[in-house]
Amino acid sequence: MEIEVQWLGVLPIVFGLGWLAARWEKRLEDMEDDVAQQKKQRSTFRGLNLLLNEQPDKAIDALVEVAKLDPETTELHFALGSLFRRRGETERAIRVHQHLVGRDDIAARDRAHAGYELGRDFLRAGMLDRAEASLNQVGDGRYLIPAKVALLEMYQIEKDWRKAIIAASELAQLEKKDYQDQIAQFDCEIALEAMRRQDLVASHLALDHAFIAVPEHIRATILRGEVYILGQRPKEAITTWKLIEEKYPAFLHLVADQWILAHQELGQEFVGLERLVAQLPEHGWGELLDIVYKHVLRLQGAESAELLMSQVLLKTPTLTVLAKRFEAQYELAIAREAQSSATDLKASVDLLKKRTSSLARYTCSSCGFRAKRFYWQCPGCNHWDVYSPKRGEGLAGL
Ligand SMILES: [Zn+2]
Repeated sequence: MEIEVQWLGVLPIVFGLGWLAARWEKRLEDMEDDVAQQKKQRSTFRGLNLLLNEQPDKAIDALVEVAKLDPETTELHFALGSLFRRRGETERAIRVHQHLVGRDDIAARDRAHAGYELGRDFLRAGMLDRAEASLNQVGDGRYLIPAKVALLEMYQIEKDWRKAIIAASELAQLEKKDYQDQIAQFDCEIALEAMRRQDLVASHLALDHAFIAVPEHIRATILRGEVYILGQRPKEAITTWKLIEEKYPAFLHLVADQWILAHQELGQEFVGLERLVAQLPEHGWGELLDIVYKHVLRLQGAESAELLMSQVLLKTPTLTVLAKRFEAQYELAIAREAQSSATDLKASVDLLKKRTSSLARYTCSSCGFRAKRFYWQCPGCNHWDVYSPKRGEGLAGL
């Protein structure tokens, strides 16, 4: 019994020690937390500092360290993912975003964001099926429109024009924006594919859709004429292209050769050529000039070609026209067997051609990409209808 009483006296001391130990442990934990917090902050600032100093390699190492210290930092994961993708390390970007998508302790908005980023990673890596699946799972919310924009871009890369039309129509509704010009271009691409298969019915059907999207669509009008040519109906082709001749002559060069051919089949080659010649005073530049010159020389001879080029030169003083005029004079000199003037003229023609061939380029109004041929979709920036039909030409005065 005595022993028990003695123990009772010790009990408060034991409790006191226990309490002290608990407090000490908590202080230790707090200190550890403080140290971790300070370490995290230091790493974050170091990472940001390196980023600002454009040292992404070192910045990534520092930020990965922070993410390890605190796996809850979603924003940091997003920043890392985007850094990896920008540096072309798509595999690592995919891992970061997949980790976020797989977490069920983050907000729905963050998961949608991660799904969108993952879709873009897959797109970048060329894994198009997986990109499509991720982007389609983004759901409603603020990432819906960016996901659709990415899908639209992807369908164009895949040349899946039908899906591109659906995505563009959905975006038109979501953004209240006009996507009709793009949709008409996608219909034209479908028509072109059908034309390659010689499927005239499908070609016409696709072009009907293009005209529903944009009445009098220039490319669809050009293609409709080409489908008629394929179907051996030159008269209908000419009637269709009348719209280009009368309203959009700047695009006439895109059909000029086939225009002559269609007239030839109807026994009206000279009539067809005269109608193109009539356009030269206003549109005497670029490829139309090249094509008309070629056919005038073939059908009417060098004298007519030379006379025509002199007339065009008065209205359109470009190096291209000048080169063509010298070319016609050279042909005449050869015909007259005037050897010395032929040699002189040949030297001028060569010199001018060298100069004009470097100047003769179509230029994208969106990214400035210069191309020898006309494109409906810029190969540089993938935008549609950004090339002016007017090819750059050197002015004769320069
Ligand atoms: Zn471009």
